[in-house]
Amino acid sequence: MQSVFDGHNDVLYRLWKHSKEGADPVREFIDGTPTGHIDKRRAIKGGLAGGLCAIYVPSGDLAFRAPDANGHYSTPLAAPLERAPSLDIAVEMASIALRMDRAGAWKLCRSTADIRQCMEDDMFAAVLHMEGCEAIGEDLAALDLFHAAGLRSLGPVWSRHNIFGHGVPFAYPMSPDTGDGLTHAGEELVRRCNQLGILVDLAHITEKGFWDVARISDQPLVASHSNVHSLTPVARNLTDRQLDAIRESKGVAGLNYAVAMLRPDARENAETPLSDMVRHIDYMVQRMGIDCVALGSDFDGAKIPAEIADAAGNQRLVTALQKAGYGQEDLAKICRDNWLRVLRSAWHEDN
Ligand code: ZN
Repeated sequence: MQSVFDGHNDVLYRLWKHSKEGADPVREFIDGTPTGHIDKRRAIKGGLAGGLCAIYVPSGDLAFRAPDANGHYSTPLAAPLERAPSLDIAVEMASIALRMDRAGAWKLCRSTADIRQCMEDDMFAAVLHMEGCEAIGEDLAALDLFHAAGLRSLGPVWSRHNIFGHGVPFAYPMSPDTGDGLTHAGEELVRRCNQLGILVDLAHITEKGFWDVARISDQPLVASHSNVHSLTPVARNLTDRQLDAIRESKGVAGLNYAVAMLRPDARENAETPLSDMVRHIDYMVQRMGIDCVALGSDFDGAKIPAEIADAAGNQRLVTALQKAGYGQEDLAKICRDNWLRVLRSAWHEDN
């Protein structure tokens, strides 16, 4: 079995939602639940050693558009969010992450040594990520607090606009070049992340925003949960030029298991064969090399192939990659080592 350190999940969002309905997040994670994708038992069964766990503030007004007769769709961006209620929700999710750590349900990791120790101890290695920075003001004061609470990765935007930049809509077929990139505040945010040792994630940002980060950041370029635009031309996927830039910076792109980002027809159909996942990995490996390809499942945040179903089925992808010709060394890189390498760099452990 290959231990997997995964670039993106929304388990914190699920636990937060259920906590609003009275559930205890610690018990839900330790005891397990039939809903969602990740809990302790299923993670261990599927070799999911840990991953980046997102603080995500939901958009109440997001209404996914049904595809037309050609399967094309374009969901309008959700409206920008207010800062104060976003901060409340982000604090609640960070609090859940901290309580999970205190209760021994998982370990909130702040270094790659922490992650490696978790892998030895069969302890879920959670890294706190923020997907869209609506909770942070232009003065970046809240960034200092979240960093002190363990935040080690962030995407300036989710698929909506905020004071830091512009996100891409959920649309097919569509180029990721849908509008403006980073704002001046967004440029400052990237610089501060570089200083503090917080990874900057390019998932969900417009193509212009991608190039803005590429110009400003002194770190490898990372798209935690994005696939290949040439194979599935949704606005969320990466063009060949973007993949080339990730390769040149020695960054990584993590394979998103969302069927709508894997299938050639971009349909929300769980009956999606593992060969669609392998095809995206093959393309990324050919374009960027084995050192720049990783996993970013989007567990608990997307409809994924029925054959994988949840974290317990994670090794089915590994087996499919093995059958496609990937050796143990390649699989170790894809499953964890490439992530650990870029985290080491982003967290200034190389110096
Ligand atoms: Zn996402």
